[in-house]
Amino acid sequence: FDTVAILNVPFIKTTNAGFVQQLQTDILAHHNRFVVTANPEILMYAREHPDYQHVLTQADYITPDGIGVIQGAQILGTPLPERITGYDTLLTLLKWGGQQHQRIFLLGAKPAVLQQVATIVQRDYPGIVVAGARDGYYDDEQAVVDEIVAAKPDMIFVATGFPKQEFFIAQYRQRVDALWMGVGGSFDVIAG
Ligand code: UDP
Repeated sequence: FDTVAILNVPFIKTTNAGFVQQLQTDILAHHNRFVVTANPEILMYAREHPDYQHVLTQADYITPDGIGVIQGAQILGTPLPERITGYDTLLTLLKWGGQQHQRIFLLGAKPAVLQQVATIVQRDYPGIVVAGARDGYYDDEQAVVDEIVAAKPDMIFVATGFPKQEFFIAQYRQRVDALWMGVGGSFDVIAG
């Protein structure tokens, strides 16, 4: 994709449809991909935390998640087509993933929330294989990574909030060639 830089962060210049189509191609080819959906809060945080800024440089796709980013791009005279949120992308991929019998790993949120999300996803997106799930309040990070590797997922959704989810993905993504995406508070939204 072409990109538009805002505060040194390159945002992909595409629509939700164009983005998801690219992700589907990547997933089917087992490409290793790291997606960050970045809102203004993330931009401010990156500006003050060089280690997080460095993690962002490793992302394959950074999407404009938040109207503030869209407005910023407009003001700079380099408009972006539309918001691309983690939540919307997650739901679209779950729908498609069901049809494709894709394997997913769910990491994050409190144990009860995660349990509900696993149940809801299997009910609402038939065909999806929840290959593994782990709440976001772990002590043994290595054990979590081992679980992810053993599950052989096609898509790994990390819902431990920023910046934790992006640090985690950047550190461990090479262990599985899959789509790795931080989805913030999405599991809480799904659980309702
Ligand atoms: N969370 C987690 N582990 C942690 C801290 C937070 O799994 O150590 C979860 C929390 O339960 C919530 C999500 O991460 O489900 C954070 O949601 P929030 O909306 O704050 O994240 P953001 O969208 O700002 O990244």
